[in-house]
Amino acid sequence: MMGDPRSHGLWERTAPPAPETRPLEAAIDVDVAVVGAGYTGLSAALHLAQGGASVAVIEAAEIGFGGSGRNVGLVNAGMWVMPDELPAALGETYGRRLLALLGDAPRAVFELVEKHAIACEVERRGTLHCAVGRSGLAQIAERARQWRARGAPVRVLDAAETAAKVGTTAYSGSLLDERAGTIQPLAYARGLAHVALGLGAQIYGSSPVVACEDDGGAWVLRTPRGSARAKWVVVATNAYTSAPWGEIRRELVGLPYFNFATTPLPEELRRSILPERQGAWDTREVLSSFRFDKQGRLVFGSVGALRGTGVAIHRDWARRAVRKLFPGIGEVAFEAEWYGMIGMTTNALPRFHRFGRNIVSFSGYNGRGIAPGTVFGRCLAEFALGALSEADLPLPVSEPAPAKLRAAFEAYYEVGAQLAHFAGARI
Ligand SMILES: Cc1cc2nc3c(=O)[nH]c(=O)nc-3n(C[C@H](O)[C@H](O)[C@H](O)COP(=O)(O)OP(=O)(O)OC[C@H]3O[C@@H](n4cnc5c(N)ncnc54)[C@H](O)[C@@H]3O)c2cc1C
Repeated sequence: MMGDPRSHGLWERTAPPAPETRPLEAAIDVDVAVVGAGYTGLSAALHLAQGGASVAVIEAAEIGFGGSGRNVGLVNAGMWVMPDELPAALGETYGRRLLALLGDAPRAVFELVEKHAIACEVERRGTLHCAVGRSGLAQIAERARQWRARGAPVRVLDAAETAAKVGTTAYSGSLLDERAGTIQPLAYARGLAHVALGLGAQIYGSSPVVACEDDGGAWVLRTPRGSARAKWVVVATNAYTSAPWGEIRRELVGLPYFNFATTPLPEELRRSILPERQGAWDTREVLSSFRFDKQGRLVFGSVGALRGTGVAIHRDWARRAVRKLFPGIGEVAFEAEWYGMIGMTTNALPRFHRFGRNIVSFSGYNGRGIAPGTVFGRCLAEFALGALSEADLPLPVSEPAPAKLRAAFEAYYEVGAQLAHFAGARI
């Protein structure tokens, strides 16, 4: 998008068209202005419009320009942190509430998709967290134990069951989470936008919000050619934040993550690799993920940025890694490549911020944003509509705190991923 074939890659080529948007070129007046057209902002807009509010989404670039149009498409339940750690980190009330909300969040995504007939290549077959070695197995076994204690439909598969489900003997086991699945991420974002528009929301593209001014009883958001006056502002700019809420970006350490898509694989390979179409990723620190798209392309990803020397290093590694995992594939031909930045927080948990009277924001999804973004957007809508009080939100309000040594960590992740992938055919 925006003329960059490495920003949204395959997803841009195969997603249904985005609704047409125009820049904000007038002075408009709405109940709620939503800044950012990713899952958080679009879900907020959809639910606000559904609740009867007048709402305008103001997007700096295009619908799905941020993480929402670039990700792997794994619709996961929960967070990276272990379930038991949430109550420990947030206290019993918020910990339990967040677990319940995020455990059920994939269902919220799938129901929304079904209700509004959003064409986004949904596969509701679960995900497989693949264990590498004994430590990986211990890790998924513990995660399974903690989820099962809460009644979640997850189970550990042994090496043989995993080999049958994944199509490789590389893993010592896997965690099958039946709540989860996969989508075409940009198609989902564009679909949410179509639904929100259909419910009466306005969406403006190419309109970066550059200032937010207090106008007595309301806020005025300024873009280069227009303005929006609103009682409430939902800031949904997350890891792709530009001014005026730079604190959100400064709180997050950007972790680059790339994907390569093969050409559609022959029928026979499609029957042996992920034959049930779960999405998968592994327990390595520099992890790999893989899934199919609807046309039978294998989408294979890992940590790293496809820029500078990273392009050739990661592409060569990905070819070797795919062949090592699935030797039957032979020569690996990629037809698309793209990457984006994942916003990581210090404790791997998301944040709820208030930037002033009625200016609210969720951010910091740590690479788990499809389902959380959808339900957090809904929560912000309910909050602005008065259907939910601040005390009932899934996270306590917190002050944005700049990440220490952010630039150094970001450089370390980018260079470190190149070194890891240059070093060999580790997968
Ligand atoms: C490569 C990659 C792989 C990932 N894989 C997965 C996965 O498999 N599963 C999963 O659940 N999550 C995954 N994630 C995370 C997930 O994509 C994000 O958490 C999620 O998309 C965040 O949605 P959002 O709406 O909060 O933010 P975004 O989608 O980033 O949207 C923010 C929007 O705000 C706009 N914006 C910024 N500043 C302004 C401004 N001043 N004015 C107007 N607009 C502005 C941006 O242009 C952008 O469009 C991945 C992320 C990446 C990058």
